[in-house]
Amino acid sequence: MSATTTVRQRRNSKLQKKGQNGKESAKKQNPRLCRYEELPDWQQDNDKILSGYVRETGSFRKCLESLTYMHNETVNIYTHLIPSATYLVLLMFFTDLFLIPQFPSTTMSDYIIINFYLLGAFLCLMCSSCFHCLKQQSETHSDLWSKVDYMGIIILISCSTVSILYYGFHDHLLHFKIFTVITVVLGSCCAAFVLNDRFNAKNWRVCRASFFIGFAFSGIVPIVTGVLEFGITEAFRRVQVKFVAWEAVFYIGGAVLYGFRIPESLAPGKFDLFGHSHQLFHVLVVLGSLCHFRAVLGSYLWVHTGNYYPNFLALK
Ligand SMILES: [Zn+2]
Repeated sequence: MSATTTVRQRRNSKLQKKGQNGKESAKKQNPRLCRYEELPDWQQDNDKILSGYVRETGSFRKCLESLTYMHNETVNIYTHLIPSATYLVLLMFFTDLFLIPQFPSTTMSDYIIINFYLLGAFLCLMCSSCFHCLKQQSETHSDLWSKVDYMGIIILISCSTVSILYYGFHDHLLHFKIFTVITVVLGSCCAAFVLNDRFNAKNWRVCRASFFIGFAFSGIVPIVTGVLEFGITEAFRRVQVKFVAWEAVFYIGGAVLYGFRIPESLAPGKFDLFGHSHQLFHVLVVLGSLCHFRAVLGSYLWVHTGNYYPNFLALK
């Protein structure tokens, strides 16, 4: 046995001890958590996030208990749960208590369209929170909830597109109906696609991100139609393109970070609990949904008052 070999062996045994101590201390901190390499195959997804995983719970109650301690899905859950609850409150009270008293000219169509969007935002974010909280129960539940999560995204994109179509073509109902039918058909195709088990495969991540961007971008066609029909200024004010463009920036930015796993792929293990790509994606989705809500309100005000309010918070 050479001296070099002995030094190497000592170094290796030190590293192994260090690794074991790390694992043991992680177990001591919370026995319900584990590291990436301890996960069964069905739970392994992102090898750049090394620790903080909730072990398979085997029960719904234990999944709900995971809301009370910190793990690498905690931020994912709450970044959508809190905004989801906020959209639910808006859905119940906003149009009735705020909008209609201020603008008695509000029609039933306005009421339905605005609440339709709020319902879509609530459902999308709630489905996402449920997925991140309940997927640890078992492989079967993980597959089921991931499909629910994707369906939530399709619902939000569909509700967003229809609300834009309504205000873009509120006085051109044939256009509104044709584009709405196209959106429903595209949404149904997407739903059929995401319900297919292959769509959920690990190596389809970039494809998944591109797929949802493609569906969301189908909304450009009616905007271009509006520009050709009404001219650029009128069309941009009808659908509040400034806010829709910001919405697109947030959604695309989020999808790119998600697709390429930035920043954890640059520094594996450094963003396990805070700051990894999925959390950033969630925050950007919420910002995008707020921009869309602002666009819908701006379009509503344009129709009812003829005024254009370019600032995000200035609605008067
Ligand atoms: Zn998510």
